[in-house]
Amino acid sequence: MPELPEVETIARGLHAQVQGRRISEGRLLTPGVLRAGDIDTLAGKRIARVSRRAKLLRVHLDGGAFLFFHLKMTGRVWLAGPGMALPRHTHLVLDLDGGDRIVFEDTRRFGFCAVLEPDDLEKWDFYSSLGPEPLEATAQELAGRIAARSAGVKALLLNQTVLAGIGNIYADESLFAARIHPASIAANIPPAKRLLLCTELQRILAEAIEAGGSTISDYRNAYGKSGIFQDSFQVYGKKGEPCPACGRPLKAEQIAGRTSTHCPKCQKKY
Ligand SMILES: [Zn+2]
Repeated sequence: MPELPEVETIARGLHAQVQGRRISEGRLLTPGVLRAGDIDTLAGKRIARVSRRAKLLRVHLDGGAFLFFHLKMTGRVWLAGPGMALPRHTHLVLDLDGGDRIVFEDTRRFGFCAVLEPDDLEKWDFYSSLGPEPLEATAQELAGRIAARSAGVKALLLNQTVLAGIGNIYADESLFAARIHPASIAANIPPAKRLLLCTELQRILAEAIEAGGSTISDYRNAYGKSGIFQDSFQVYGKKGEPCPACGRPLKAEQIAGRTSTHCPKCQKKY
């Protein structure tokens, strides 16, 4: 699933391509993917900006309305030129003045979209309950979100109401960087280590954005390009490979319901 750096990369690419363009028509090809709002209200609106909140791609429309996309496992949003054939699993199309189209495709169909007025945002529980953006808060603020919690640290990192935008990749990578075992109880981790976890998380997210995100399975940015941060992974997906710090084999365990790759020697369980 695309996480914060991947969705940020898509948002930046799409923003550069469509800012200021007018939507001539919104077409919903698969009604089930639109969870809220009316596609017909998009016609005639100009795109003011494309941004990201958590793992959501957010299109800001003139007049204040928003169009959100959640890409989930296999969703993609990209700009198709005039006359370009649309892929088979296209669920929503925004025709832009000039003939380009914003395409939402999703082979596995877990992704969704929503058209919302500003007043609707507070009523959308998923959105209004999102935790802070890891790159917009200080590391101290982030560490405060996981202090005094009796839950497992990995579960907290993945919990979108605690911190927004983190998934399995960046949770495993930041826990390794801070040398914290993913099954640790958050409240038992020494405060300096919790702070280190959050500074490492911020560093890794920023580096991943610089690298255009990580490409596992079929992630592509708004230009159809893949990211390269997967080349910098220390532990994610590397079960059995030598730990980059001590050389012992990395272990994968189900923690917080997710495959969690870590070094049992270097990452201390608190
Ligand atoms: Zn190790």
